[in-house]
Amino acid sequence: MSTATSVDTAKATVEAALDALLAANDPKKMDNVAFRGARYDHGLAWVHFPEGCGGLGVRPDLNRLVEERLRKAGAAPQDPATFFIALAGPTIATHGSEEVKKRWPAFETGKFYPPKAIEDPAFADDPYDQLSALFDPLSGFMDDPMLAAHNLAHAAKQHGAEFLFHKEVSEITRDGDVVSGVVLKTGERFEAPIVINAAGPHAAAINRMAGVYDEMKVHHRPLRQEVFSPPAPKGFRLEDNAPVVADLDLGQYFRPHMGDLLNVGTTEPACDPLHFLDDADNWNDSVSVEFFERVMLRLARRLPDFGIPHKLLGIGALYDVTDDWIPLYDKSSLPGFFMACGTSGNQFKNAPLVGKFMRTLIEAQEQGIDHDVTPVEVMGEFTGMPINLSAFSRLRTQADTAGNVMG
Ligand SMILES: Cc1cc2nc3c(=O)[nH]c(=O)nc-3n(C[C@H](O)[C@H](O)[C@H](O)COP(=O)(O)OP(=O)(O)OC[C@H]3O[C@@H](n4cnc5c(N)ncnc54)[C@H](O)[C@@H]3O)c2cc1C
Repeated sequence: MSTATSVDTAKATVEAALDALLAANDPKKMDNVAFRGARYDHGLAWVHFPEGCGGLGVRPDLNRLVEERLRKAGAAPQDPATFFIALAGPTIATHGSEEVKKRWPAFETGKFYPPKAIEDPAFADDPYDQLSALFDPLSGFMDDPMLAAHNLAHAAKQHGAEFLFHKEVSEITRDGDVVSGVVLKTGERFEAPIVINAAGPHAAAINRMAGVYDEMKVHHRPLRQEVFSPPAPKGFRLEDNAPVVADLDLGQYFRPHMGDLLNVGTTEPACDPLHFLDDADNWNDSVSVEFFERVMLRLARRLPDFGIPHKLLGIGALYDVTDDWIPLYDKSSLPGFFMACGTSGNQFKNAPLVGKFMRTLIEAQEQGIDHDVTPVEVMGEFTGMPINLSAFSRLRTQADTAGNVMG
């Protein structure tokens, strides 16, 4: 009884805020950005955020009510190409540098922008001005991707999935104009009405194998990257509750890691060369002194107590990067052949949601819906926000993104 009352109260709060928003702002007559700003001011950006930070402090499923009412009132649908960030600006709690300094004293909070090559004499310039920062209090990170992948595989097995490890697909077969299965390098054949290409950095080769690569408007290819795990300075360890930091000012990202370490990677600033590959089977997986020095020296600018470690600890690895750094979750020109690839270095955390995307795309095909013509949507279970999957179409016009691992 008490739950029902509190749900009703929360719903009434959201409805009152919607009434007030729409009474003062007509989405049909005003600029979309201004309307989104008003939406934030009324606590209707993400209703589960705190009051004063774009929310009303109520249950997240009520976002669905907001979406439905605002769409009916004529508000522009969210631009599918920016679904990760469309509401991020107005919904992230903003903290100026004083707040950042207080929370994490290990930070140098001056500006270094734009990112520079370490050989550039200006790299040594003093920081100027003061940064402002955006802090998302609802985000977090997972520290053991291997365990998480293992858990996902275990859950899939419980639902009937079977895994074949150390087997290589060498052919995608067709029956007339539709996909019919795969052939392994060993010669084993598997008949299947649905084949999904989730081959990571090898996915472009598999799309070529299936004969669907050339029809794509957004392409993808392997990019070699290096990520390092140096010792974390005092004040920026897991026990300090240190956050993930996207430091576009210096062109890096970093976060605390188990064992008093950091994980540090780059955000592909314009001054750094990018190492795209043609062949995901032919590359060097050891870390380089050149990359290491660049990343460590930049990090030392943001965390002055960091010091420069002498031991290279890190990995060389491959991203599967699309032209616009947005993934490809889509059907293809070959009926039954789907793709979940082009993850551009950042989609591990979305894996469960991607499963729902792919299921929705496959079910649409089974119902005779052509997603290329009538794009399908997935409703965010927790946010109540619709996600239009045309954002991940292979036929999309390239999205206007930061062009780096942050998407
Ligand atoms: C250094 C690094 C850091 C990253 N950091 C993050 C992060 O912080 N957060 C985040 O969300 N994401 C991160 N990512 C991205 C994330 O790892 C990928 O998005 C994710 O692993 C993609 O999963 P996947 O299953 O699609 O592909 P993968 O994990 O690449 O798996 C593809 C699988 O396909 C197999 N395969 C390939 N070709 C064939 C074939 N012919 N036959 C049979 N099997 C084949 C491969 O062996 C592999 O097992 C990072 C990636 C890298 C490289």
